Amino acid sequence: MAKKDIDWGSLGFGYVKTDKRFVSNYKDGKWDDGVITEDADIVMNECACVLQYAQTCFEGLKAYTTEDGRTVCFRPDLNAARMYDTAQRLEMPPFDKDRFVEAVKQVVKANEDYVPPYGSGATLYLRPYMFGINPVIGVKPADEYQFRIFATPVGPYFKGGIKPLTLCVSDFDRAAPHGTGHIKAGLNYAMSLHPIQEAHRAGFAENMYLDAATRTKVEETGGANFLFVTKDNKVVTPKSNSILPSITRRSLMYVAKEYLGLEAEEREVYFDEVKDFAECGLCGTAAVISPVGKIVDHGKEICFPSGMDEMGPITKKLYDTLTGIQMGRLDAPEGWIVEI
Ligand SMILES: *Cc1c(COP(=O)(O)O)cnc(C)c1O
Repeated sequence: MAKKDIDWGSLGFGYVKTDKRFVSNYKDGKWDDGVITEDADIVMNECACVLQYAQTCFEGLKAYTTEDGRTVCFRPDLNAARMYDTAQRLEMPPFDKDRFVEAVKQVVKANEDYVPPYGSGATLYLRPYMFGINPVIGVKPADEYQFRIFATPVGPYFKGGIKPLTLCVSDFDRAAPHGTGHIKAGLNYAMSLHPIQEAHRAGFAENMYLDAATRTKVEETGGANFLFVTKDNKVVTPKSNSILPSITRRSLMYVAKEYLGLEAEEREVYFDEVKDFAECGLCGTAAVISPVGKIVDHGKEICFPSGMDEMGPITKKLYDTLTGIQMGRLDAPEGWIVEI
C-alpha cells in the first residue's frame, strides 16, 4: 500500500480525518460484533445521555513504524484494561479487553497508509471512546452505548527540540479524594478546561494540581503524571488514589529499575519536597516525557538544576530507553510491543 502524501514532520497534534474507524453498538444488554466504517459522523438524539450527563470515557494510544519496518502498538492491553475499569466506574457496559485489542488492530490495518514512517517522529494516534447514546432525561445510566475507535496521524510532539516547560501550582482541584481522578473520563477534562486556559493566559504550559483534601501533596497535571528524580538519582512518582494510572509512567518506572538499575519509588510526594528534586518530567502517551524546568507557586519559583534548555540526564536516559524499546532499537519486555 502507498503511504498518504503527508508531510509527517510538519503535522501537529490535531485531528486529521482518516479513511476508516471501528464502531460497535450496545443494545438489549450486549455489544454487537462491530464494523469498520468510512462514516466519521455520529447521529444521535438531542437527549442522548452523553450530551446531557456526560456519560463518556476514552483512551489514547499510538501505532507507529519500528526501525525494522513493523507496524506496532505499545501495550494496548493496558488501555483495554483501563477502559474496562473506567466503564465500570461510570456504570457503562465494559467492552471486552481482547476485543478492544482486536479492534485497535483492525483500525490500524484499515488505515495502514496513515501510519507514519520510522524516523519521521510522527505516529498514528488511536482514540477509543465510549458514550451513552439513547435519550435520558431522568438521571440514570443510558441503556444503549456506542464504542468507537478512530485514528489520526499526529506529528512529533517536540518540534524543533525538546524545551523544558514552566508549570504553575493551580488553585483549582483536579480530582476529589473519592471521586473520578483515577479514570479516563471526559468529565475530568471538561472541568480542567478553565484552569488550563487560566494557566495559559498567565504564561504557563500546564497546571500542577495538589491533592484536594490537604493541598500539600503533588497529584498530576491535567493530562500527565509526574516523575521526579532525586539528587541521588532515585526516580520518584506520586502515589494517590485520585491520579490517572498512566501507562507511560508505569512503563518508565519499570525501565528505571530493570533497564537502568535505578531505585524507583511510588509514594506520596509532598509539595514541600519538590524544591529538593534534581529533575522533573511529565509522562503521557503523546510526548513520553516532557521535561519540566520550573514550577511557580504563587510567584515563588522552583527552578530545577536541569535548567530551561534541555532534559535532565536521568530524564533523558529514561526517555531514550523507553523510546528505544518502542521503536524496536532495544529489546522489549514480553508483551509490550504488539504487532499489527
Ligand atoms: C491519559 C492521561 C495520562 C497519561 O496516561 P498514558 O497512559 O501514559 O497516556 C495522565 N493523566 C491523565 C489525567 C490522563 O488522562
